[in-house]
Amino acid sequence: MEEVIKILLIDDDEEDYIITQDIIEDIPNKKYLLEWVNSYEKGKENIDQAKHDIYLVDYRLGINSGLELIREAIGSGCTTPLILLTGQGDQEIDEKAMKAGAADYIVKATLNPYQLERSIRYSIEHARNLKQIRQLNMDLERRVEQRTQDLELALKKLEHTNENLKRAEKETLKALEKERELNTMKSKFVTIASHEFRTPLSTILSSASLIAKYNAPGDEEKRQKHISRIKSSVNNLTGILNDFLSIGKLEEGKVTNDPTDIDIRHFSEELIEEITPMLKEGQHIIYTHQGENSNLHTDKQLLKNALLNLLSNASKYSEAGKPIELSSSITDKACMIAVTDHGIGIPDSDKQHLFSRFYRAQNVTNIQGTGLGLTIVKRYVELMSGIIKFNSEINKGSTFTIMLPLAIGKIR
Ligand code: ADP
Repeated sequence: MEEVIKILLIDDDEEDYIITQDIIEDIPNKKYLLEWVNSYEKGKENIDQAKHDIYLVDYRLGINSGLELIREAIGSGCTTPLILLTGQGDQEIDEKAMKAGAADYIVKATLNPYQLERSIRYSIEHARNLKQIRQLNMDLERRVEQRTQDLELALKKLEHTNENLKRAEKETLKALEKERELNTMKSKFVTIASHEFRTPLSTILSSASLIAKYNAPGDEEKRQKHISRIKSSVNNLTGILNDFLSIGKLEEGKVTNDPTDIDIRHFSEELIEEITPMLKEGQHIIYTHQGENSNLHTDKQLLKNALLNLLSNASKYSEAGKPIELSSSITDKACMIAVTDHGIGIPDSDKQHLFSRFYRAQNVTNIQGTGLGLTIVKRYVELMSGIIKFNSEINKGSTFTIMLPLAIGKIR
């Protein structure tokens, strides 16, 4: 069945309707249905209902102009073609019509069936093409949006993979660094062991041979002297081995902080009892405590190891006969424990490196050690959320002070 093209003429002059009707009837081989409204408002109303295939809009519509109607219709989204009709040819109106969005511009005086048919056909085709283009454009936009989303997703995945790779790289580097450190430690251990083990081992050997000789009843004192030399050498060796074991455990993250309630006075007295046999001749530890409270919540083993280390340094780096002071004090917020000796002290230039691994001050070349003890002490204290400081004057002595929090939290 042939398609009927519905035309709406918007024109305030009935005469024009009759003429247009006549012209349309003269168009061969096409079916048209012409309807007519005679005002701007009715025209707008019909355009809004979108019941027609094309609008013929007169330039003059009472006090309004057909151009305004076209502009308004297009502005409110009309996609049906609108053709502007004018009384006479005018280039300016033609251009205005084009700018307003009219599909064509026809001068009524020259209107004939051929021209009208052609204009309607072109306008409808053009509008159809425009619609298709719009549709294609929308499809395209949708596809672009979809692609953009896909790309964003892919990008995010890539970023994620990248982050994972970076993390893995960091971890590998860390592991490598640890491996390197362990290797350094192993070789340092071999160096230190071959150097530091020699003296205590030869002491043990010579003392043991001498003990074998001093077997007469009056030699008791000499025997005791060599027994204590053997003991102290063994202690030295044990100390070196312990330092390496402790640092190894720390490196592997195997040392944990398990706080319990401690009475610092009782704890210190036990500690003194344990270390006294290892002190040099004539050395003894004077202990004092300040504060009514003596209760502390911290890791007993970590604190014990840290203080044993500081006390044995105090003994090692001061002469026989010199006293060592151990003091504790507890306030509302913190516990302070200090170890003071009157020994060789620490040169100013060495102070800043003292807690570095393997570091030994320049004035200790004749005294055995690994340079690991203070590194271990500092790590233990940090595990207990505390801090360690020291004061020292060369040839006068040193004080190492540990500060621990009473409540959970770090001391600053
Ligand atoms: P080590 O005693 O095995 O050398 P530490 O890490 O315990 O290792 O100490 C590092 C360095 O700090 C020591 O070699 C020494 O130079 C210095 N030091 C530590 N404690 C004292 C102290 N009480 N008096 C003087 N020097 C000390």
